[in-house]
Amino acid sequence: MRFLDLPGRVAEVRGRIERAVARGGHGQAVRIVAVTKTFGTEAVTAAWRAGLLDVGENRIQEAIAKKREVDVPVRWHLIGHLQRNKVKHVTEFDLIQSLDSLRLAEAIDGVVRNAGRTADVLVQVNIAGEETKGGFEPSEMPEVSEQLAAMTGLRVRGVMTMAPFDADEARLRHMFAAARGLRGTLVAAGHAATELSMGMSNDYEIAVEEGATCVRLGTVLFGARST
Ligand SMILES: *Cc1c(COP(=O)(O)O)cnc(C)c1O
Repeated sequence: MRFLDLPGRVAEVRGRIERAVARGGHGQAVRIVAVTKTFGTEAVTAAWRAGLLDVGENRIQEAIAKKREVDVPVRWHLIGHLQRNKVKHVTEFDLIQSLDSLRLAEAIDGVVRNAGRTADVLVQVNIAGEETKGGFEPSEMPEVSEQLAAMTGLRVRGVMTMAPFDADEARLRHMFAAARGLRGTLVAAGHAATELSMGMSNDYEIAVEEGATCVRLGTVLFGARST
């Protein structure tokens, strides 16, 4: 069986998170989303057995295929771009972390309202303005927050962001603090936005110090991805 060392890695990561919460002083609870993309369903099962209740996938087809195969009741997070022609699948996910345009928001809103449901979403913010990454610009957030408030099928639960891979610590802190501020912008527009999804394998301790409530971890749990 693969991932035999996962419980030990989880214990190590949980310890690091606990110490980062103490250093940061935000006192938040932190959820680990195990990023299982590119790994087989055994990663999902291993995560569940190791006490991780949430998994993240960035491709909708891959996620749905795994979801059909596993029998552990994890919560499924979509953390990658959702094409509008795949929007009908949103109801398969417990949380869409990658809401990255108003057109997508409208499409999701339409699908879930037709189904008599709601969708929990995080607003993805492109905090460093990187060309290669999706998400809203920070400056758009006041207006976006207002517009999302009119979409009654969406429950906007917070902000998701990805920091640049090569940023130094000072810059990371600055960007994570900015994301925290943008969650405040959502709250000011009336959203029940409590979540701050930020921090990956290489920067999660800094993200937690800056208030992350959700860290998305792949490599540090499962090892390097081959693709
Ligand atoms: C792949 C991915 C992660 C996990 O990255 P690691 O560096 O392996 O921890 C987190 N968030 C998103 C959006 C991803 O696509």
